[in-house]
Amino acid sequence: MSNCFICGNRVLGLQGQDVFLDTFYLHDEIMDQHVTDQQAFGDCHAICLADSARGDFWGKRIRENMMLVRHFSLLAETSSITLVRNQAMKESVIIDRSGLVIYVSDRSLKKSRSVVEGWLLPIQHEFNVDLSDQPQLARIISISLATTGQFPLHELIKRLDLDRYLLHPIAVKDGKLYQIPTRSDRKLRQASIIRQSLFVSTQLEYSIYLPQHVWELVSSGL
Ligand SMILES: [Zn+2]
Repeated sequence: MSNCFICGNRVLGLQGQDVFLDTFYLHDEIMDQHVTDQQAFGDCHAICLADSARGDFWGKRIRENMMLVRHFSLLAETSSITLVRNQAMKESVIIDRSGLVIYVSDRSLKKSRSVVEGWLLPIQHEFNVDLSDQPQLARIISISLATTGQFPLHELIKRLDLDRYLLHPIAVKDGKLYQIPTRSDRKLRQASIIRQSLFVSTQLEYSIYLPQHVWELVSSGL
């Protein structure tokens, strides 16, 4: 189970809402040593990082890594974000001053849709969550997956009491956990899903929210 190193609560690993601060970004300097000593790295909620004293530091280290080590090209820089380009992956990377990093693929950008004061970009990825401390919820999800093939993401977030850590609730509103249909026998599949119910392993679909001015910067960089 991944927990936020700032607040101690669970982190689901949602793009645009959570961030993973890897020690490979760190330098051999005193400040970096403090971060290591205090174990101020790993998974965290973007909202916790922004409120902490560590956001600026991590934002700076990530910018340095992407520009000086990985040589991503600089597309734009404002007082709040740095936008770089990973051409090989056909994606742009938004590094917020508060330490949040968002990867925006060209494919996702093309499918973006406008909402109030911003844009939603669809995203899908594998999703694994250890619910061994929440057996009842795990069972509800497993049954829902086995019978309807999906479970609402906002419902998972609500039941885990993680709403307060959402930076942009609108981005997960229509999100869902779902199973990729397989050719195997339906009953066998259902039995296996319910058996493995404490560890939920599914696909996840939701959105990344970008404010209007950030979306414009990312779009104009292509
Ligand atoms: Zn947190």
